[in-house]
Amino acid sequence: MTGATARPVDLRSDTLTSPTPAMRRAMADAEVGDDVYGEDPTVRALEERVAALLGHEAALFCPTGSMANVLALRTLVGVGEEVLCESRAHIARAELGAHAAYTGLTMRTWSDPRGGVDLAAVEDLFAPDLGPFFVATRAVAIENTHNFAGGTVAPLADLEALRSFADAHGVGIHLDGARIWNAHVATGVPLATYGGLVDVAAVCLSKGLGAPIGSLVVGSADAVAESRVWRKRMGGGMRQVGVLAAAGLHALEHHVERLADDHAHARLLAEAWDVDPAGVETNIVVREVGDAAAYVAAAATEGVRVSALGRTTVRLVTHLDVTRGDAERAAGVLASLPR
Ligand SMILES: *Cc1c(COP(=O)(O)O)cnc(C)c1O
Repeated sequence: MTGATARPVDLRSDTLTSPTPAMRRAMADAEVGDDVYGEDPTVRALEERVAALLGHEAALFCPTGSMANVLALRTLVGVGEEVLCESRAHIARAELGAHAAYTGLTMRTWSDPRGGVDLAAVEDLFAPDLGPFFVATRAVAIENTHNFAGGTVAPLADLEALRSFADAHGVGIHLDGARIWNAHVATGVPLATYGGLVDVAAVCLSKGLGAPIGSLVVGSADAVAESRVWRKRMGGGMRQVGVLAAAGLHALEHHVERLADDHAHARLLAEAWDVDPAGVETNIVVREVGDAAAYVAAAATEGVRVSALGRTTVRLVTHLDVTRGDAERAAGVLASLPR
């Protein structure tokens, strides 16, 4: 009996981190101002840093990735227009219909086992101007890494092919880059290369990077200016949030390269779970079991918390607060539980 008495190993999500002592010090020491007036120097520094990393003109600090996705995507797609995306995309499944509720856009989806870009399917779905009955396609959205497909990285060649297609047909590309840092660390592809292949992006500091809050819209100066207006309209204008931006700057400085440790821990857990570690590219492992809810409950009694993504799908996510020892302990439990 390993788990019940020790601290549980929480693999439900990489949002479950607590700010480190050094991050808390950076937050306490942050210079602040009223950001609605554009006077918070730490927020501005974070926005400039993230824009530069992704190779874009500007960025906008937002409370959540969902808000950043809504703001970014609405710069490309208007009311009654559509975006194409993969069927398990976070924008389609996990934002409570925000894009329909706020922007009034619609979505059509393709399905790819690894959550990637299926260019043939995109070409097939694509309908920019089919006359008076058909919804007009304005953008294609990609998710890199892809959360529900298991932290998969979109191959660069696929992204380049999609860029060529989008340029040839005058549509935009939105990147849900909540975990673009993981893709960068896993492949060595520069963040600016990923950024350069899309028109707008949303990136999160609150996942593997370990900040308590924070996401950014990244794009052209125009797209970000428009997003700033809509952020305020949605009630997302924030004041002395340099204390939060400081956590993000600290995370970008200290917590990007270490994502490689999370990836190694995920492969270790995959092996214990009889999942081919070669297919585990970053910090997420997804597996089919007989009954996901029962599996989650059984793991919890052994001190390992994982989450159900569906009736038979279980997900685990490694992060900053999961040590090598935690991963080894969890691996022991996962290897022993009936599936
Ligand atoms: C977590 C996540 C988001 C944003 O989530 P919030 O909880 O709104 O910050 C967006 N996309 C993906 C792929 C995510 O995993």
